[in-house]
Amino acid sequence: MAKKASKKASKKVTKKVTKKTTKKVTKKVSKNSNGSLKTTLIELIRKTSVELPDDVQKVILDALHREEKNTTAKYAMDIIQANIELAKNKSQPLCQDTGTVLFFVAHPKNFDQLAFTKTVHDAVKASTIKGYLRQNSVNSLTGENEGTNVGKGHPSIHFHQHKKNTVEVRLMLKGGGCENVGAQYSLPHTELGAGRDLEGVRKVILDAIHKAQGKGCGPGVLGVCIGGDRGMGYMESKEQLLRSLDDQNSNPVLDQLEKDIVTTANTLGIGPMGFGGKTTLLGCKISDLNRLPASFFVSISYMCWAYRRKGIVIDEKKHTIKKWIY
Ligand code: SF4
Repeated sequence: MAKKASKKASKKVTKKVTKKTTKKVTKKVSKNSNGSLKTTLIELIRKTSVELPDDVQKVILDALHREEKNTTAKYAMDIIQANIELAKNKSQPLCQDTGTVLFFVAHPKNFDQLAFTKTVHDAVKASTIKGYLRQNSVNSLTGENEGTNVGKGHPSIHFHQHKKNTVEVRLMLKGGGCENVGAQYSLPHTELGAGRDLEGVRKVILDAIHKAQGKGCGPGVLGVCIGGDRGMGYMESKEQLLRSLDDQNSNPVLDQLEKDIVTTANTLGIGPMGFGGKTTLLGCKISDLNRLPASFFVSISYMCWAYRRKGIVIDEKKHTIKKWIY
């Protein structure tokens, strides 16, 4: 009986202590007036803009070695690799299109999202002045470019509360060319003979790859969502691009489909930049969401070879980079 009571009391105490620590951490990290948080985010933006993550660099090198000598495909891959090395060494953007700036922030409870958003805006403005980001965001009605990359809906910031006691920030820079070849299909699709099943899903994904040839700066990576509504489907397909290229889908059916799509795409002969060759896709990541019985969407986000994504865990006390993700 006494043992039980002391166990209960100790549980209460630890709960209280964790609650207190979480509050302290979130309050500290979300304080927008803090200069070091801004500096930390600027470094995240710089590194994302100039350097590919290791998993992407690895598949690009694999593709480079796969292409046959004296072919246009090999030449294209050589240029891509030279571009990657030059950008890293000179600390300059990998591509002139620094793309849509997408932040994904995972945080504990009691986190001040408004304060964090303000610091992100400041960091994006500063990174634009420094040249890590091109002046890329324009008013859709007037075409006006304020030159700051901050405006309605840009940067795009997505917050998710998680159970951990850390703030993790993932950043993706998604170019316009590859965004343009994203696609959403509503099944059944009579023209393609695609029904509401996995074979139908496979058909529309391969159709999207076929239609993207010569555009979107391949070889690329696909993020796919099966189901959801139109908005959630596209968002989930983009979030699939946050996965590491060497990870394995926990759903064996989707894992099989991912591998099948990459293998099949690489036999189509589309190749780097659509010049022919053995590498059309570098990867494919698929997830599913519940849907209404009346709808069956397949949403596809296409990422070009300039697959810029990085992530950091923020040190709760100093607001510096505690750890790089990827
Ligand atoms: S699609 Fe990618 S590589 Fe091509 S111009 Fe846009 S950002 Fe650059």
